[in-house]
Amino acid sequence: MSALVDADLLQDIKKFGKVDVSACFSCGNCTAVCPLSNNDGTFPRRMIRYAQVGMKDTLLSSKELWTCYHCGMCSDSCPTQADPGGFMAAARRYAIASYDHTRLAWLMYTQPVFASILAIVLAAFFAVFMYTSHGPQSQTSMNLFGFIPEPLIHYTGLAVMVLAFIFGVAGIVTMVQKLSHQEMKLRGKSKVSGLKALWSSIGVESIGQKRYREDCATAELEVPWYRRRWLIHSLTMWGFLGLLVATVADYGLSLIGVKMPGTWVPIWYPTRLLGTLAGLAMIYGVTMFFVDRFTKANQSAKNSAPADWMLLVLLWIVGFSGFLIEISLYLSNPPAWGYWVFLFHVSVAMELILLAPFMKFAHAIYRPVALYYLSRAGGEASED
Ligand code: SF4
Ligand code: SF4
Repeated sequence: MSALVDADLLQDIKKFGKVDVSACFSCGNCTAVCPLSNNDGTFPRRMIRYAQVGMKDTLLSSKELWTCYHCGMCSDSCPTQADPGGFMAAARRYAIASYDHTRLAWLMYTQPVFASILAIVLAAFFAVFMYTSHGPQSQTSMNLFGFIPEPLIHYTGLAVMVLAFIFGVAGIVTMVQKLSHQEMKLRGKSKVSGLKALWSSIGVESIGQKRYREDCATAELEVPWYRRRWLIHSLTMWGFLGLLVATVADYGLSLIGVKMPGTWVPIWYPTRLLGTLAGLAMIYGVTMFFVDRFTKANQSAKNSAPADWMLLVLLWIVGFSGFLIEISLYLSNPPAWGYWVFLFHVSVAMELILLAPFMKFAHAIYRPVALYYLSRAGGEASED
C-alpha cells in the first residue's frame, strides 16, 4: 500500500488518550510479553512506529489494531513508560473517529464538554418530543403505553435505528475499503474460507470472547473471577443483547395479539424473565467497569476516555431505569413516578442507539470486521 505521511498523526492520536509514545525506542519488550504477538515479532510496537512516522493509512487499515483487548501487560513491561497498551486504545478511538465522515465521533471524543451537552440535549429532545403526545396516567393499573403512545415510540425508534444504521454502515464501508487494500495483497494467499473466518470472528471471538478469556487471562491471574475484565465485558455485552431481544420479542408478541407491550405479566413470563436477567447482567458488568475505573484497577481503567464513560453511563441509566419501571409495574398502586421513569428510559435508550456509531459502542462492529479479515489471512497480519 502506498503510505502518505501525515506529520500530525501522533499529535492527533494524543487527542484520543493521554499517551506519549515518543519515548519508544523499539526495544521489543512489549512484543515479548504481548499474548497476541505472532511469529513476525513486531506487534504491538509496529503500530507505534506507524504513528511515529505518520503512516496514517497503514494504521487505519490495520486489522491487528482491533485484536488488542488492552490487557496492559505491554505497558507494565515498557522501560520508558511509553504505555503501548494505552496507545493502542487511543489509536482505536482515533480509528473510530476517522471512519466517521460526519466528524461527530471526532468531536465527541476530543470535546468532552460538547459530548456531555449533546447527550443532555438529545435526551431532553426525545423526552419533550414524546411528552407532547402524552396520554393520561392510569391510576387503576400501570399502562405505560397509554401515557406515551406505543406507535409514537415504535416509529421514533424505527427512525432512530435507521439513522444509526446508515451512519454505522457508512463507517463500516470506510473501514472495509481500507482493510480491503490489505486483502488485495493477500489475494491468492487467503488461508481461511469466508465462512470459517466469519465463524471465527463472530462466533469464537466476538461472542465467545476466546482471546479475551484465554490469551489475556495471564494479566488477571490475581484478580477474583467475578472481577475479571472478560467476564464483566461479556456480561455487559450479553446483557445489552438480551435486553434488545426481550424488547423486540415483547413487541412481536403484541403484533400477534398475545399481550400488550408494557403491561403486567408474571416475572417468569419468558420475555420478562429474559429482560430481567439480561438487565441484571448488564448492570453488574457496567457497575464493575465503573468500580475498575474509579479505583484504576488495571491499565485499561487507568486510560479510559470521557467518551468511553459516556457509553457506560448511558447503558447504566437504561438498565437501572428499566428495573425501576419493572418495580412500578409490580406495585399494587401504580406510582406516578413509574410513568416519568418510563419517559426518561425511552428517551435515553433512543439517544444511546442514535449515538452508537459515534462512540465506543462502534467497536462492537469494527472489531468483528477486522477480526474477519485477520482470520481470512490465517491469523497472520503483515500490515505493510
Ligand atoms: S516496550 Fe516500550 S520502548 Fe520497548 S518497544 Fe514497546 S513501547 Fe517501545
Ligand atoms: S494491551 Fe495486551 S493485547 Fe494489547 S498490545 Fe499490549 S500486551 Fe498486547
